[in-house]
Amino acid sequence: MSTVALQAQCLCRAQTFTTTVATASLPLKGSCCHCTSCRHFSGALRSSDAVWPGDPVLKRYQHSPRVNVLFCGTCGSGMFFEEWDDTEAKERGGVEEASYLVFTGVLSVVEGGALEGRLPVVLEDHVFVGDTLDGGAACWLRGINGTGQPQAKVWLGRRNQSEEVKAGTQWPAVGSLMEHGANLKGEKGDVPLRCHCRGVDLVLRAGDAQREFEEMQKNGEELPRFVDPRTHKLLGELDACDSCRIWGASELFNWTFAWLKHISFAGAPDKGFPANTAQLKAAVEAADDSSRDPRLGTLAVYTSSPHVQRYFCGRCSASVFYTIDDRPDKVDIAVGLLDSPDGARAESVISWSCGRETSWRDDMIGTWRVRMLHAVEKEAEQWRIERGYPTIWYRLAQEQVQQVGGDAP
Ligand SMILES: [Zn+2]
Ligand SMILES: [Zn+2]
Ligand SMILES: [Zn+2]
Repeated sequence: MSTVALQAQCLCRAQTFTTTVATASLPLKGSCCHCTSCRHFSGALRSSDAVWPGDPVLKRYQHSPRVNVLFCGTCGSGMFFEEWDDTEAKERGGVEEASYLVFTGVLSVVEGGALEGRLPVVLEDHVFVGDTLDGGAACWLRGINGTGQPQAKVWLGRRNQSEEVKAGTQWPAVGSLMEHGANLKGEKGDVPLRCHCRGVDLVLRAGDAQREFEEMQKNGEELPRFVDPRTHKLLGELDACDSCRIWGASELFNWTFAWLKHISFAGAPDKGFPANTAQLKAAVEAADDSSRDPRLGTLAVYTSSPHVQRYFCGRCSASVFYTIDDRPDKVDIAVGLLDSPDGARAESVISWSCGRETSWRDDMIGTWRVRMLHAVEKEAEQWRIERGYPTIWYRLAQEQVQQVGGDAP
């Protein structure tokens, strides 16, 4: 009988779990959840998990009454759900046992495994898409398993227990969504940026940012590359890099970008949030409670390479920020943490970069995830066309990003 060894490993590699399964039992069956809780404990626009035959021991965070998130306390990579299902336990005579689901972003196949043309995992559906209000990332992910594989079903709530959004339709309907050109237009535009446990409780002052960028443009100043010059919204992008996949625990992580000066502590618009990346790192790393600003809450930092910092919630594991030393004014923001009234994609604030090649796409080329990459790129482009969104500035932005080398993992 041929077998495959599957591995779940966090970004800092301190946590590694391996299990061997029969090739014939693959693919593992998985699912993506777009619910508000999952977006806020992960920072991604969805969680993505599949059954894991094992019992990992890791730092735990209670996600909901019968579900824990297991994650690496050093780097913040989410790794498993631990679920307690009392109905199953009753059937077994009252002995309650946990079952485990591995986050597909941290999953890999140990070299030498005989996949025999099978995929390690197939994601069967997207659940709780109704929580997103605007459809979130589900609009790009119906074909997530790739050509020739089953399409993922889309449900507004639970699988088989809620309304199904049939293939070929968008939810909500295209006409009901806001126009691309619309921005905050004089609204205050403060968007909460907070993790599931609220230990990280910040604000993205997107209205202030839009007004400042508009003013800069009027004065003939050059806008940052992450600003849409027509709407003054922030760029939103899909990121295919391995590091963000592992750290955010799902494939194609979602980022937006801002200047640090447009981030505030909740309830304190002008007071005290670090103004540059060096100050932020020093503030978060402050050794003792007396020197650390209590408003930083549970924000923790992992230095993933010498000049790169990844900020996460040390209690619930949410990815929060990515910063790099040679861009001291700028942070990459995990979009899943934004609570924008228009929905999970936050389109009053973010201009999504569809219609161009995905950032760091080479990381997926030549791996079993390449099918996903191609399918999502195609679907995102269809989504752009259907919505009537332009592509030109994205292309310019991408060319500029490539010239400076883009983000390092
Ligand atoms: Zn780790
Ligand atoms: Zn969920
Ligand atoms: Zn948290």
